[in-house]
Amino acid sequence: PAKRLARLNIELNSALVGARMLLEIVDSPQSEPDDSDKPPLALTVARVEFDNVCFAYRPDEPVLNHMSFTAEPGKMTALVGPSGGGKSTVLALLLRLYEAGSGDIRIDGQSIAAVSRRSLRQQTAYVGQDVYLFRDSIRANIAFGKIGASEDEIVAAAKAAHAHDFIMSFPLGYDTPVGEHGAQLSGGQRQRIAVARALLRDAPIVLLDEATAALDSESEKLVQEAIERLCLNRTTIVIAHRLHTIMHADAILVVEAGEIVEQGRHDDLLRRSGRYASFFRLQQRHAAPLAPADTAI
Ligand code: ADP
Ligand code: MG
Repeated sequence: PAKRLARLNIELNSALVGARMLLEIVDSPQSEPDDSDKPPLALTVARVEFDNVCFAYRPDEPVLNHMSFTAEPGKMTALVGPSGGGKSTVLALLLRLYEAGSGDIRIDGQSIAAVSRRSLRQQTAYVGQDVYLFRDSIRANIAFGKIGASEDEIVAAAKAAHAHDFIMSFPLGYDTPVGEHGAQLSGGQRQRIAVARALLRDAPIVLLDEATAALDSESEKLVQEAIERLCLNRTTIVIAHRLHTIMHADAILVVEAGEIVEQGRHDDLLRRSGRYASFFRLQQRHAAPLAPADTAI
């Protein structure tokens, strides 16, 4: 029984983190100190700056090491690199799920530590690796992106996210319950519901942690198109696992052991024949069917 309790605790914790990462929960969770006396974030162009940021979850185990970069307004900045390098931590700090140890994170020149969390999260849409859906209707799951959304707005967001057609293929349509006794949604369908929710939110800053699990190629194409719509003209920071999805990113940052070891656009980085180029070639080799030249080696 003690073991079961311990497991329950872990599950509750990860559910809580999932819910927090959703951010649609705009009221600060109880575990976060109230900061509603701070002024709200005043957004102009949505430029995001990391200025010499250091961070550690545990003392003496640095995770981010003097990290500096700027995510330009309306552009896509991609983070790539080996697992454990600190990419997800960058997003977590931006959302103030944790506070930076030193250095500063600014949005339009305002330190995010000096503004209310609620205002910060209202301006941000997050789509994570694991899409967190509630045991409620598909409609409610999308509408969660915006309090008081109209039916028209919900349907428009679902259409833009390539979710409308599969939703309408269920007998109950938007009323279809999600979860245990409801629709069993594929990974790609869940992703598209998350994108519809984020589109409805219409936040100027978009944070994406791309799913690691492979989607079937049809689903992947639809998810990719939906994500491209979501990112259009928004300041986007995307953690990419499949490098072909960020070939057109405005800036690619290669993150290793909490540092940016390379940055540039796809073509520049390939020409440089450094870390990014070797990642990219490795992925291409695994994605492509074995060519005779490969089998000969
Ligand atoms: P990435 O997204 O690049 O794979 P992460 O930011 O998730 O990297 O993790 C960076 C490092 O921080 C890893 O060593 C990881 O084990 C550690 N880490 C991540 N989240 C936590 C956490 N909540 N508590 C303690 N350590 C963590
Ligand atoms: Mg990660």
